[in-house]
Amino acid sequence: MDHFDAIAELDRQSVLHPFTYLKGHASGEGPVPVIIEGAKGVRIRDARGHELIDGFAGLYCVNIGYGRTEVAEAIARQAYKLAYYHSYAGHTTEELARLSDRLLRMAPGRMSKVFYGLSGSDANETQAKLVWYYNNLRGKPAKKKIIARERGYHGCSVIAGSMTGMNFYHDHMDLPVSGILRTGVPHHYWGAMPGETEQEFSQRRADELEALILGEGPGTVGAFIAEPVLGTGGIIPPPAGYWAAIQAVLRRYDVLLIADEVICGFGRVGTPFGSHLYGIEPDLISVAKGLTSAYIPLSACLVGEKVYAVIEEATDRVGPFSHGYTYSGHPIGAAAANAALDIVEREDLAGKAATRGAYLLQRLTQEFQQSPIVGEIRGVGMLAAIEFVADRAHKTRFDPALKVGPRISQAARERGLIARAMPHGDILGFAPPLVMNEGEIDEMVDITRAALRQVTDELVAAGHA
Ligand code: PMP
Repeated sequence: MDHFDAIAELDRQSVLHPFTYLKGHASGEGPVPVIIEGAKGVRIRDARGHELIDGFAGLYCVNIGYGRTEVAEAIARQAYKLAYYHSYAGHTTEELARLSDRLLRMAPGRMSKVFYGLSGSDANETQAKLVWYYNNLRGKPAKKKIIARERGYHGCSVIAGSMTGMNFYHDHMDLPVSGILRTGVPHHYWGAMPGETEQEFSQRRADELEALILGEGPGTVGAFIAEPVLGTGGIIPPPAGYWAAIQAVLRRYDVLLIADEVICGFGRVGTPFGSHLYGIEPDLISVAKGLTSAYIPLSACLVGEKVYAVIEEATDRVGPFSHGYTYSGHPIGAAAANAALDIVEREDLAGKAATRGAYLLQRLTQEFQQSPIVGEIRGVGMLAAIEFVADRAHKTRFDPALKVGPRISQAARERGLIARAMPHGDILGFAPPLVMNEGEIDEMVDITRAALRQVTDELVAAGHA
């Protein structure tokens, strides 16, 4: 047993990994633990020296790429100067005040204040409490239900996990809690009726949302939460007209809009926020991931004027805002975010995501559109997905037992590329660092082509394609 085998064994005996078959991992029968040692640019390296192109930027988060020393130095500088002080009762640091001002200037809509946490999940947990607090304070204590979308992903804590519209985040864990309602996923490819245009389909989704609100009673519905581009549920850009139609309904019934910008924020879709691209005017915004490019954990809730004015005004009656974490506004997180956002702005990573994302989508379309098992190729900015189907003409899915998506992802990995098999169908997802250049995009496409060919050949040989 060498040094790395010993580390892998230690891991097996001690770590409870997320999204892992625990028995296989603990017993050693599952895949060998992969020890990630280092990374630079768009490539990660394991302890055995194998290099992989990270076509998913970790978990859609390392937007500025790996190994950016300026961020490491900003973290170190702040740690030497002041590693920690809390932000309760008006305490602050220069980095925190600067970051907050900057976020408000970058953000869409009319945002007033920024509240900090450490993860996308806790940001959305805070958003739910803000919705309840706001409606209690303005004398509407029944207006509390939150509508989320099927296949939306908002985290895995208790309320955020309940908002997440995927059963496997709920099963056997007593979720969802009550008070979370669900509305349809805006995926034209699967959801549209024959001949229905994107506009008509969007309007139908908005009509369904309206019917849901009316059925429950508008006086009981507090908020709607959604990602500008649906992410983990399949990387699904909204169909034409979707956000305009949805927002018209929300305004009609005084329902707050929470934009979950955890993936879309900070350039990923080619604009500073996803809301900018789709004309979304949120009341509340959640950000995480790209905020520090994951160099250190940090999330934030941007609180719009409408909500903030009510909660500020109420302080005389109800006392201080009684919500916050030990690490809210952590100075090292703030320093890392400022350094990461300096890079995003200086290198115009939103602009690069727009042009290189268009290149990525064009290459994927050009290469794979004719493949007999490709149903849809979609994307926006540096988010893209290929959805595989058994029968293109009749739009039928593969038998899930064939694991077509995971097999293509695995075949790509064996050739040096991480592209993620997404849940709900056979979907290969791409969300590379925003610094990925065209040559590296070409490499991704080449590896994907080889992986797709291998799995197509296997399916044909077995009589499944
Ligand atoms: N919202 C969205 C849109 C996300 O994609 C994620 C994470 N993938 C979350 C929230 C939850 O973030 P975290 O994993 O940091 O809790």
